[in-house]
Amino acid sequence: MDQTLSATPKDLAGAVLSIDLGAIQKNWRYLASHAGSAECGAAVKGNAYGLGVEPVGRALWDAGCRSYFVARPKEGEELRGVLPEATIYVLDGLFPGQAEFYAQNNLLPALISIEEAREWVAFGRVYGRKLPCAIHVDTGINRLGFSMDEYAALLADRATLDGLSVSLLMSHMACADEPGHPLNAKQRDAFKAVRAKLPGVPASLANSAGIFLGKDYAHDLVRPGIAIYGGNPTPALSNPMHAVALLEGTILQTRDVAANETVGYSATWKAARKSRVAVLGAGYKDGVPRSLSSGNSNNPPQVFLGGKRCPIIGRVSMDMMAIDVTDLTQAVKRGDRAEILGPNILIDEAANWAGTISYELLTRLGSRYARLYSELDSGLQA
Ligand SMILES: *Cc1c(COP(=O)(O)O)cnc(C)c1O
Repeated sequence: MDQTLSATPKDLAGAVLSIDLGAIQKNWRYLASHAGSAECGAAVKGNAYGLGVEPVGRALWDAGCRSYFVARPKEGEELRGVLPEATIYVLDGLFPGQAEFYAQNNLLPALISIEEAREWVAFGRVYGRKLPCAIHVDTGINRLGFSMDEYAALLADRATLDGLSVSLLMSHMACADEPGHPLNAKQRDAFKAVRAKLPGVPASLANSAGIFLGKDYAHDLVRPGIAIYGGNPTPALSNPMHAVALLEGTILQTRDVAANETVGYSATWKAARKSRVAVLGAGYKDGVPRSLSSGNSNNPPQVFLGGKRCPIIGRVSMDMMAIDVTDLTQAVKRGDRAEILGPNILIDEAANWAGTISYELLTRLGSRYARLYSELDSGLQA
């Protein structure tokens, strides 16, 4: 049974996004089973990669997930509202002057500098206790975190270090989705050295793809994100994850187009033969990237309809896109739905057509369609 959380009923929205919470739970369990003895957490930043942090957070909690990673304190507050007992880390660190907000919502900043560490300690003194946090060390991605030198300075600054309650030592990988990349082993070794300097503190290195790099990468806690939502954590191999998001557009009209006629803005697609065209009510406002417009390639972007893949033709516009249904044996009619993303059109494949990655595709899904959340998988209670 479907439960509609959106204000827009399915028959009025034109495009429908169905989110399979049971698949989210199965994916999380699968990742947990590949993490050896490490705890499996979940990255739910960006509104759970665009899929809805509240229902997704609850589904993951029911599957057994206890540690969550958001990017912003505001996201942490939202998740705290549905998961009062979860451990919630804020990956963007401690925002200046906002320590009280973190403490009130029991959010653990993943501290990225000595300045942040001192601010957290100073606030903890006022607050009357050592506040929990993660320490994020940069081992080679050169994005967020203590550099190795800054980390050494923190370890030497006993007053600051003793004022923290460090529940996690973490680092983030740059190239985990390329198993042969030399930076992986380099970061693994650097993180080993980081751990050795703060023994006894639980440690975390692996994202989704990192889980599949081997035991050396798992440490005490893994932090998958994209694979929970159906993205392939092993890009060189077929995707072991279940599709989570099903995005469907509704057919508004079908028409015959004579050979040599064009379809859509700028007349970029020309019929090579008499063609049957269906116009789907889903466009870039709904999160279908304009870059899914057909080029001249032999492998054009496709949707799935009537048991077959049908090419997208011409430009994806704001509210609609056209597809070539000439080769379908059964008639396509107004009101039928076509799969734009889902079990037949995987997010990694569609992202590749669009020249982007599954992460961007999911997080840019629009707000105009009806969102339906399927039932939880009741067989997976923790
Ligand atoms: C987003 C993020 C993750 C999750 O990464 P995926 O590739 O989606 O599995 C883990 N750790 C950090 C620090 C992140 O920013």
